[in-house]
Amino acid sequence: MREIRNFIAGEWKSTASSIDDVSPATGEVVAWVPRSGQAEVDAAVAAAREAQPGWSRLSTQERSRYLLRIAERLEARAEELTNLESLDTGKPVALAASMDIPRAIANFRFFANAVLHDSPGCHPVDQSAINYTLRKPVGVCALITPWNLPLYLLSWKAAPALAMGNTVVCKPSELTPLTAHALADIVRDVGLPPGVFNVVHGYGAEAGDALVRHRDVKLVSFTGGTQTGAKVAEATAASFRKTSLELGGKNPTIVFADADRAKAIEGAVRAGFTNQGQICLCGSRVLVEQSIHDEVVEGMTRRLAKMRIGDPKDPSTQLGALVSAAHREKVEGYIKLALEEGGKIAHGGGRPRLPGPLANGFFLEPTIITGLSSKARAATEEIFGPVVTVHPFDDDARAISMANEVRYGLAASVWTRDLSRAHRVAAAIDSGMVWVNTWMMRDLRVPFGGMKDSGLGREGGVYSLETFSEARNVCVAL
Ligand code: NDP
Repeated sequence: MREIRNFIAGEWKSTASSIDDVSPATGEVVAWVPRSGQAEVDAAVAAAREAQPGWSRLSTQERSRYLLRIAERLEARAEELTNLESLDTGKPVALAASMDIPRAIANFRFFANAVLHDSPGCHPVDQSAINYTLRKPVGVCALITPWNLPLYLLSWKAAPALAMGNTVVCKPSELTPLTAHALADIVRDVGLPPGVFNVVHGYGAEAGDALVRHRDVKLVSFTGGTQTGAKVAEATAASFRKTSLELGGKNPTIVFADADRAKAIEGAVRAGFTNQGQICLCGSRVLVEQSIHDEVVEGMTRRLAKMRIGDPKDPSTQLGALVSAAHREKVEGYIKLALEEGGKIAHGGGRPRLPGPLANGFFLEPTIITGLSSKARAATEEIFGPVVTVHPFDDDARAISMANEVRYGLAASVWTRDLSRAHRVAAAIDSGMVWVNTWMMRDLRVPFGGMKDSGLGREGGVYSLETFSEARNVCVAL
């Protein structure tokens, strides 16, 4: 049994009460997590506040070197981190090894370099004046992250925040604390000054809420559900603190009849079911041109039938467990709702039978639902599990209107061989990101974030540097 502790002012701290951390694959308790509240949050914010001036006075080069050392240590411990992430989330070890951990390493390397090449701008006014812009640190940043991509998303926030001279207090999901704990250990190892990086574990409604309301927290970067995002926005709005919100999605995968069918089907399966469908970018609404609707459904079904569900520790497993019993029940509730709304199950819909301790895990078959109205609740609300609904459309205009009829606007993928159609449709979809003939091909320089109920603000590349700093313009008359 592991004992997870808070990391405050460079020291490990326990709390009086704790929360069980359960393995989604077996239902066994694998660790105890601190149940932090106001006192722990106060201590972490005070430590971060005290450390901030010293950290921001270091040269950019020095801060960059710390981040590179963190990346090196993450790389050296990649196998251990991969196993921890898989144990904690129920995701296949192969996915953690190919996506989560390499990306966490890349996040630290990328921002260690990006900050060195930042040039915020200079605007001369003829012969009369010159403007130049400085980026100053914001102060103490609260970084609140969900359970689906724990280290990947935490590093996505921590690296740019630290690079820009801020100090941070992180509140990971209490469901998946293991890699945040390991990151704190690495931070200690590389000798980051005490208080620069702090982790407070616990429930969102207790530790998370206390953190976002803390008056010494000057910026909140939150990734999580839309409802929680609204609470965070309320807590920060009245004090005008910088807030970045990366929220939910109900992303369309749009397949036109002229697409490379095999690639489109493969892409729709990958977009729908990677990480058991628990990625904000997952394509959970597959919109298919009427003439190829049945072919696409059959193609996806054939692939899902071959998908290996089971032990996340087995390197050949492709689909692991959902994160918790409660989350599986929520997803199953949506499958039931879809049937009540007139949908039909084309594949899956139930719990797989698995041997031994896996029988107690939170597994669910990959599920395809057809025949639903595109306006049905199951087709428009975020399910965040291995469930996609498939809907036919007649022409481009209908494909676009269906893509836009949900409250979310995070991502979309468009599959077509017609280049003009690809550009036209991509421009017409209300979402922060559109992929054409691919899905989740990420470049860390590009803006990442959503429109409508999918969030506020953009992170990534220079957008992260902007998010985690205050731009100040200086105008000098010549
Ligand atoms: P939640 O919104 O439930 O939680 C996210 C984080 O916020 C957790 O650490 C949670 O703690 C904490 N939290 C909960 N309540 C509060 C509060 N009142 N104040 C401050 N913090 C709080 O999301 P999930 O963990 O369920 O993650 C899934 C959601 O995340 C999905 O909707 C998904 O779309 C979204 N997501 C968005 C991404 C994006 O980039 N747009 C990327 C990945 C996921 P606790 O765990 O204790 O509740």
